[in-house]
Amino acid sequence: MLKLYNTLTKQKEEFKPINPPNVNMYVCGPTVYDFFHIGNSRSFIMADIIRRYLEYSGYKVKYVMNITDVDDKIIRKSIEQNKPFKEIAGKYADYFLEDSEKLKIKKANVFPRATEHIDNIITLIKELEDKGFAYNVDGNVFYNVSKFDGYGKLSGKNIEDLESGSRIEINEEKKNPLDFSLWKKAKEGEPYWESPWGNGRPGWHVECSAMSCAHLGNNFDIHAGGSDLIFPHHENEIAQSEAANGEHFVNYWLHFGFLNINNQKMSKSLGNFFTARDILKKYSAEAIRLFFAQAHYSGPLNFNEELLAAAQKGLEKLTNLQRKIEDELSLKTTEGTTPELNFNKYKTGFQIVMDDDFNTSQAVAVIFDFVKDVNKVIGENTNINSAFYSEVKNFLQETAEGVLGIMDFTQKEETDMATKEKELIELLIKLRQNAKEEKNYSLADKIRDELKAIGVVLEDSKDKTTYKVTVN
Ligand code: AMP
Ligand code: ZN
Repeated sequence: MLKLYNTLTKQKEEFKPINPPNVNMYVCGPTVYDFFHIGNSRSFIMADIIRRYLEYSGYKVKYVMNITDVDDKIIRKSIEQNKPFKEIAGKYADYFLEDSEKLKIKKANVFPRATEHIDNIITLIKELEDKGFAYNVDGNVFYNVSKFDGYGKLSGKNIEDLESGSRIEINEEKKNPLDFSLWKKAKEGEPYWESPWGNGRPGWHVECSAMSCAHLGNNFDIHAGGSDLIFPHHENEIAQSEAANGEHFVNYWLHFGFLNINNQKMSKSLGNFFTARDILKKYSAEAIRLFFAQAHYSGPLNFNEELLAAAQKGLEKLTNLQRKIEDELSLKTTEGTTPELNFNKYKTGFQIVMDDDFNTSQAVAVIFDFVKDVNKVIGENTNINSAFYSEVKNFLQETAEGVLGIMDFTQKEETDMATKEKELIELLIKLRQNAKEEKNYSLADKIRDELKAIGVVLEDSKDKTTYKVTVN
C-alpha cells in the first residue's frame, strides 16, 4: 500500500487515485530563459522517479509538465539580446528537452506551453472576475485574496502571518498586499495578447491553473514542484482553481527539498549554480540520479563535486555486475546449476520502502544488498546457467533501471548493435568476393558502389578487402 506525504494535510496518507488505475500528475516545469541547473534537475529527476514507481506499481500515469515560455526574465533577455522573446524561449525549451533526455527523464505526455494556452487563461480569469474574485485596475487584473476562504491552507499560514512574514511586491493598485497579478497590462516593447481587459500577458500562477485544468481536469491526483513553490505559487494556484471551478483542486501535493550549495539554496539569481549540461560532461546520468536517489526527496540536500564523484564510483559495483550478466547471457548456458537466491525478498524489500513515501535511499540500499548477495552466490558456485543471470537481470531492469534510472541495459544493446553492423559489412564483403569468383562483376560492383553511397568505402588489396567508414 503506497503512502505519501501530502503537504496539504501535513501527513502521510494512503494513496487513493480518483479513477484507478489512472493517475493524473502535474509538475511545475522550467521557465525557459537559460540552461537549467543541477538544483532544478533534482526536482525533475525525483518527480520522474515517482512517476516511474507509480507505473511500476501498475498505474497508468498521465504526466504533464508545463513550460513557462513568457515571463519577465525571458523578456529581459530578449531585450538584452535584441531577439524576439519566442526565439529565446524556443531555444531554451529545446535545450531543456535535450538535457532532460540526457538525464534519462521520461518524456511527459504533454509539455503545455503558456503561450499556447492564452485562451484558457483568459477564460479562467474571466470566470474569476465574474464570480467576484478578481478586479481590474486600468488593464491590470488582480486576484482578491481576501475573497477566498481557504487562502493559506497549503502553506499552513493565515493571511496576517503571510502579510508580515513574506516579501510581497508593493503595488499601489492592489487592494491587499497579498493580491497577485492575473493579467499584466502590456508595457512598451513587451509581447502582448488581446483580452477583455486590453492588451497584456498572463501572470505566472494563473498559467499553471489553466494548463493543469486543460489537460487533467478540475480535480486531479498529484501536483508536484520544488518546495519554494508552496508559497506563493501553489497557494495561488489553489485559490484560482478552486474559486473558478468550485471544486477541490488537487488531492496530493508533493514538494521537493532544495539542492543547496554550501548550505545556501542553489539558484540562478544567486549565481551559485552548475548547469545540468556542464555536469553531464563529467558525470553520467546514472551517477547524477544515484546521488539524488540516495537522499529522500523532501529534505534539503547539499551539493558538492566529491559527492557526485563518489556516486560515480559507487556505480561501478552495478556496472561490473551488468558486464558479467551480459557476458554470461551471451554464452546461453542452458545446463548447469541455478543457485538458490530468494529474489522475492529483494523485490518485496524494494516495494516496502518505495511504498513508504518513496524512500529512494532505502531502495538504493536494497539494490546494493542484492548486488552484494548475487556476487557472493557467483563466487560460491561454478557452472551457473543463464536462467539465473536472466532473473538477476530482470530484477535490476525493473528496479534499478526501470524505477530509479541508475542502470542502463540498453547501452549494452547499442554496442551490440554496433557489433552487428560490423558483421553485416563483413557479410557483404564476403558476398562480393563470391560474386567476383562467379564472374558476376556487375553484382560485385553494385555491392561496392551501394556501400560507398552509405559511407562505407571498400579497399581491395592483394589477398583481402578492408573498409573505411567515412562521415558525410
Ligand atoms: P524554475 O525554472 O526556476 O521555475 O524552476 C523549475 C523547478 O525547479 C521548480 O519546480 C523549482 O521549484 C525547482 N527548483 C529550483 N531551484 C531548485 C533547487 N536549488 N533545488 C531543487 N529544486 C529547485
Ligand atoms: Zn506551476
